[in-house]
This record gives sequence, C-alpha cells and structure tokens, in this order.
Amino acid sequence: MGHLPDICLTPHRTKIICTVGPASQSPDVLFSLIKGGMAAARLNFAHGTFQQHKKTISAIRAAAKKAGRPAIIFADLPGPKIRVGHLKDEPIVLEKGGTLFLTTENVPGTRFKIPVSYDRLSDSVEKGNSIFLNDGFIELKVAKIERNEIECIVITGGTLLSGKGLNIPGRTVYLENPTKRDRQIMDFALEAGIDTFGISFVENAKNIEHAKDFAKSRGKSIYAIAKIERSVAVSNIENILDSSDAIMIARGDLGVEVPIEDVPSIQKEIIHKAVRKSCPVITATQMLLSMTENHRPTRAEANDVANAIQDGSDAVMLSEETAIGKYPLESLEVMARIATSFEMKRETISWAKTLKERINSELIKGHVTIADMISMNVAEAVQTLSAPFILTPTKTGMTPRRISRLKPEGWILALTKEKRVRNFLFLSYGVYPLLIKTFHTDWREEVLELLKRRNLAAKGDSIIITEGKFTGDSGGTDSMAILKL
Ligand code: PGA
Ligand code: MN
Repeated sequence: MGHLPDICLTPHRTKIICTVGPASQSPDVLFSLIKGGMAAARLNFAHGTFQQHKKTISAIRAAAKKAGRPAIIFADLPGPKIRVGHLKDEPIVLEKGGTLFLTTENVPGTRFKIPVSYDRLSDSVEKGNSIFLNDGFIELKVAKIERNEIECIVITGGTLLSGKGLNIPGRTVYLENPTKRDRQIMDFALEAGIDTFGISFVENAKNIEHAKDFAKSRGKSIYAIAKIERSVAVSNIENILDSSDAIMIARGDLGVEVPIEDVPSIQKEIIHKAVRKSCPVITATQMLLSMTENHRPTRAEANDVANAIQDGSDAVMLSEETAIGKYPLESLEVMARIATSFEMKRETISWAKTLKERINSELIKGHVTIADMISMNVAEAVQTLSAPFILTPTKTGMTPRRISRLKPEGWILALTKEKRVRNFLFLSYGVYPLLIKTFHTDWREEVLELLKRRNLAAKGDSIIITEGKFTGDSGGTDSMAILKL
C-alpha cells in the first residue's frame, strides 16, 4: 500500500489552462488556481525575464504540491512574430487615408515612419497586400515597395504602441522557426525541467521536428504543442497533427491571418481532425476576455467556452484573463463552472450526432486498428454501465488518449511509470494520470482500494480495465475487462 499518489478530481473533465503572469504569479493565487481546477500553467515567454519565469516555475511546483494535484507547466515560445519597433512619442494615432512608411531600419518611430522587426518585409509583400497592426485593429495597404521601406495607405486607423504585432495574412515570412530567441528560451526552460513547449506560427511539420531536434541536441525529449495561427498551417494540418503531441487553435493571431468569419469553421474542423487522431487539442484566446475588466463574462463568452467543449476540445485556455486581468480566480471559476454544467448535459442536448458517434462511424469506414476497437468498446461500456472509472496502464499515453477522445462520462485513471508521460496526460480530457512505481504487484487491487478509501467508487459500481499481455509496454493493449465492485 501507499505506492500510489492520492486522487484529487475536479468536477469538470475539460482541462483548463491558465496563462500565468503578473496577476497570478504569487504563491497564493497559484494555489487557489490549482485548487480551483487549473490543470496546466502556460508561461508566455513573449513577456517577462528568465529570472521572473524561474521564480514562477518554483511557485507553481510548490503550489501544486500543497494543493495535492499536479499542474503541468508549458513554455509558450514567441516564434517568428513580427513586431512594431520602438515608437518615440507613444501612442501614435494613425488616421484613415493617411500615408506612412514601414521601415526595416531601427529608427525611433513616428506616425510617418514606423520601424518593424523584420528585415525581409519587402520580400514578403506585394503592392496591394494588406498589412495588419495591433491584433488586426489597424489595416494598411501596400502602395509602393522600396528596398528597406514600404509605403502604405491607412485603410483602418487607430492607436499604436511600441512592440505591437504585425501580420501579413497569407504571405510567406522568411524567418526560421524556432527562432534564435526560441532556442535560448528552450535552453532556459529545459534546464528548469520543463518539457512541454508551445510552438508559435507553425507552418508545417518541419517546424515541430526542428524544435524536437533542438531538444534532442541537448539530450532532452519534448512534447510539442503546435499553435495553429497561420492559414498555411490550416492547409498542412494533417502533417502537423502527425508530428505534434498536441495542437492549439490560437485564435488571436489566427483571427488576423485568416478572415475572421472563417475562424469558427476552422476551429470545428481542426478539432475534429485532432480528435480522430487522438491528438489533444486546446482552444485558446479571448474565451472570457471581458473578464480582464469585469467579474462576470458576457453571455457570448459563456457560450464560446461551452461550444469549444462541445466541439471536442481537451482543454480551454485563459490568456490575459489570468495573466494581467483584474479577476484571475473568478475567470478560472467561471470557466470551471461552465465546463461542469455543460459536460453533464453534452450527451443529451446535442441535436446533431454526438462526437462519439461521428468518430465511431468514421473509424469504422476507415482502417480500424485493435487499439481503436478497444477505445470504442471502452467508451461504450462506460456509458452503458455508468462506470465511474477506467483504469488504463500506459507506457506512451496513447491508450488513455484514444479513450479520452470519445469523451466517456467516467474518469480515465491512466497509470504510468514515466513522470513526463504522467505530466503530459494532464492535458487530455477526463484523464487523471497516476505515477506508479511498478506493475509487478497487483496494481488493480491497489487502485480499487484507493477508490474505495476515498469514497470515489462504491459497491456495485462497474470499473473498466484495459489490459495488454505486456502491461507497461507500448502498443500492447489488446483487451478490456469489466469488474463489478
Ligand atoms: P499568443 O498565442 O498569445 O502567443 O499570440 C495565442 C493566439 O495567437 O491566439
Ligand atoms: Mn499567437
């Protein structure tokens, strides 16, 4: 006895990611966030110093220990994001119809000449192209291209500050990804023991492979979360899904890089493709944005969270709401309550075919593996028997992920000997991973004992167990057992 860590479930099975920043990096707030159901902390390396991030990392680890529930930490790399350089008298106001120059030279910016952090801007644009500044709020049209300068007409004006993002939708950006800065960040984060990375502005599978190769050159192995925020990534989604460990629908930049009206369908389509491949998927950005200022969300925001869950997201993410907002805890709590309420009803209120039925019929139409078959049968048994738990021994995490994609209404207790596998499994819907020292002793008895002791299961409950001849080996899962307590 006593080999297993305790189980501390949340009322919701959707995983919540909070971006940790000035509003949430104190030990107290971190502790409350984890208690309240934060599964993962996102560190946005576009901001903050290494020193601050180091402090935050230890604070998250300490808070998780105190709360009795692990929280995974992921380092979000800024990637090849083009930014406006330093402006002399900020903010500057750009008037509709005005003319200005974007320059690749490092000059102090004015409303007539704005420096940009990208040397090859003139190679990337053509006359007539749109250039967006400040999250898409300002639109420029390219009028004339010179070597280091681009003359633009202001189509939609607005206020601009130093460091704001610049997007050129649909155009090629000639910057390596991961960038030199990303590699420095990876070095720091790997040293700090972080093994999960958000890769920004992914265009194809190569970007993911390069990030993984870099980690390998440091003797490390990483989990890569591909951030889908460029239209070319949407076109290359199949290859990206095959090479990444999770994906993020990064709707902030995506909503500038593709027409805003296409974002909802892209979200749904990509989530569906990810779910089919058992690739964990995060829906991110502006989910409860108004809570940065207010203690309650808008009705539309509440719907957005529920819809992302209905679409099949494993996780939903908070950005400025928890990083710099006035109500970080309230934002998490509202998100957790929406998830809890919606999950209880998802099976009964969806008028369309449920996600599970769609996946089942697609899998059956295609090539069904033994592993697929097991996951479908497990999900079926859980629903039919109202089984509260599924016990899945796993080496790589694939078996629990394959079951998780079908969103069964029972917790998937994933048992693994690998700490990094355990950590990454926290991202998957309805998975509660447990680190186990050995599969030699009767681990089933031990888990059942723990469930009874914690009043998580009662006499008469059905528990589903997946098994393989070589429990603990990857790809060995080939059967399922049902146990009545
Ligand atoms: P970011 O990514 O916050 O790093 O820009 C998320 C997004 O673009 O939605
Ligand atoms: Mn982004």
